[in-house]
Amino acid sequence: MSPLGLRQVYDRLLHAQGPQGWWPAETPVEMAIGAILTQNTAWTRVEVAMANLRGAGLLDARRLADLPTDVLAKHLRPSGYFNLKARRLKALAAFLADELDGDPSRLARMPLDQARARLLAVPGVGRETADSILLYAAGHPIFVIDAYTRRLVERLRLADPTAPYDDLRDRFERELPRDAALYNDFHAQIVIHAKDRCRKKPRCQACPLRPDCAVASGGTE
Ligand code: SF4
Repeated sequence: MSPLGLRQVYDRLLHAQGPQGWWPAETPVEMAIGAILTQNTAWTRVEVAMANLRGAGLLDARRLADLPTDVLAKHLRPSGYFNLKARRLKALAAFLADELDGDPSRLARMPLDQARARLLAVPGVGRETADSILLYAAGHPIFVIDAYTRRLVERLRLADPTAPYDDLRDRFERELPRDAALYNDFHAQIVIHAKDRCRKKPRCQACPLRPDCAVASGGTE
């Protein structure tokens, strides 16, 4: 069994799952808010917190930045770690409101390295969160690495799953064309695959990657 190429992995997932049209948000600012709320939390819980914010008219960077932290934390309670996330969301919202007129899609006007450095300087914004915003809100061609990506990398023996974030990101970006639409859909395919089949305890029966998977070939189902 030889490791699959990344393009083969993507093509098989796309064929099995269809185009995903991600990220699940209606506006770039909603997308950026979701990128903070989804840290260490399932998306279903994020959706409840997002509905709270929407109901309170708070899907707006300036209003979020100006809201007292304890008031914001109450809205975020369903997403878990709500006090921490309230502080992080206010910091990101202040950055967006002060420097981008509240619109994270304006990061598209900056060179990628500069936009990434600006986001990473915001307290609570790590690489995965920054790259999600850069890719999904601003359309920059940068591959997002998350826990699901590491799981798939390990099971298909694509790379060292414990490698530093930027090493893995670089691995994807070197092997694939620099194409934001491809990175957008590939990351979405990985997330859907991890939720539907490649769980911690995987359901390998109908997996399109099964013939090339170290875990499945070992008989784990
Ligand atoms: S065969 Fe199983 S473990 Fe391997 S990628 Fe598919 S779902 Fe995951």
